[in-house]
Amino acid sequence: MRRVSILGATGSIGQNTIDLIAREPDRFDVVALTGGRNVEQLARDARALRAETAVTAYPDRLDDLRTALSGSGIEAAAGPAALQDAAARPADWVMSAIVGAAGLAPGLEALKQGATLALANKESLVCAGAMVMETACRHGGRILPVDSEHSAVFQALIGEEMESVERIIITASGGAFRDWPLEALKSATLDEASSHPNWDMGQRITIDSASMFNKALELIETKEYFGVSPDRIEVIVHPESLVHALVGFRDGALMAHVGPPDMRHAIGFALNWPDRAELPVHRLDLAQVGQLNFRAPDDLRYPALRLARNVMQRGGLAGAVFNAAKERALDMFIAGEVGFLDMAIIVEEVLTRFEAEPGLIDAEMTLETVMQTDHLARTWAVEVMQERAG
Ligand code: NAD
Ligand code: MG
Repeated sequence: MRRVSILGATGSIGQNTIDLIAREPDRFDVVALTGGRNVEQLARDARALRAETAVTAYPDRLDDLRTALSGSGIEAAAGPAALQDAAARPADWVMSAIVGAAGLAPGLEALKQGATLALANKESLVCAGAMVMETACRHGGRILPVDSEHSAVFQALIGEEMESVERIIITASGGAFRDWPLEALKSATLDEASSHPNWDMGQRITIDSASMFNKALELIETKEYFGVSPDRIEVIVHPESLVHALVGFRDGALMAHVGPPDMRHAIGFALNWPDRAELPVHRLDLAQVGQLNFRAPDDLRYPALRLARNVMQRGGLAGAVFNAAKERALDMFIAGEVGFLDMAIIVEEVLTRFEAEPGLIDAEMTLETVMQTDHLARTWAVEVMQERAG
């Protein structure tokens, strides 16, 4: 029996993970499930999987969680400290699927107890890549990528030496607005940005796909996880989302990973690694697919990619600034306070302000400095918005 926990169990990745685990109840002992406001879902899953503990991030939801779990014998807890405790419970495998920088501290906790961390929460690597990788190394924990592109690269690298890798190419669907006229993007609405042509995902990552901020985060994630220099990482727009990534080797060969857009592949790969198990994903009929298209990303349409390249060059805490400013700008877009194109403008301005204060980005990277930087970047993102509005 493998002991597994799922952080962010009620979200899109969490539910896909539960789908796989629930199919094999005899293989897995479920330790902890965590979620947000939807405690009814959390309790249902905790009962179905016979989890030891269920934790909501929100203390004001604890009473309802207790009620929903009554008579089950499953422990209930709430709040950030309880989340940390859940992540620290001994487990062999922990899914990190909280959205945003909130996933960083629990993920580090899971690594410290030596668990294998299945990492969907790309934000941890963007905010604090060096620290996350070093924590895994120091405590004998392992990180397996769950982002589909990074799982694809990981798989293409099996049996290869990093010296023979010339480049890594991650694909981007182009998101909801890939074929919109540039002029129309300014007035794109929340509803329009919240539907993805190929993938069914949480709302935040879906909007980030439309703005390419998701791919921008993934560029940084690639650099941090695989340790390759930024000039060896490319993004290509591939509207079908069937090729997830390609690795180019020094002999000119490209190894591509091809599969349907179903996150259960990458999750299942991380769950069964180093084995490959049978997974309930659709098998592609390439004759029916017919065509695969690729095109270069348009810099004007997707300023987020340019910003990510600056952040990779800058290093230090620039990733934490970038991620937090992006998260706050996205909150403001969701709240209807700023337009779609304002998000990148706000993030760029926040980065510029940090650059004007040397020492901030170059401070030593610790959980504390990352969280302080995160907080300041969010504050400045709001200030930038207010100055632009006033
Ligand atoms: P989601 O919004 O569907 O779910 C997020 C989960 O995190 C929920 O369980 C929610 O309750 C919890 N959560 C939210 N805020 C929290 C907080 N402050 N503290 C604790 N828990 C909190 O998101 P998702 O689409 O499942 O994405 C999860 C992560 O996986 C993200 O980092 C995303 O970028 C990454 N990812 C998702 C997909 C996908 O297909 N959905 C693909 C690749 C990577
Ligand atoms: Mg991805």
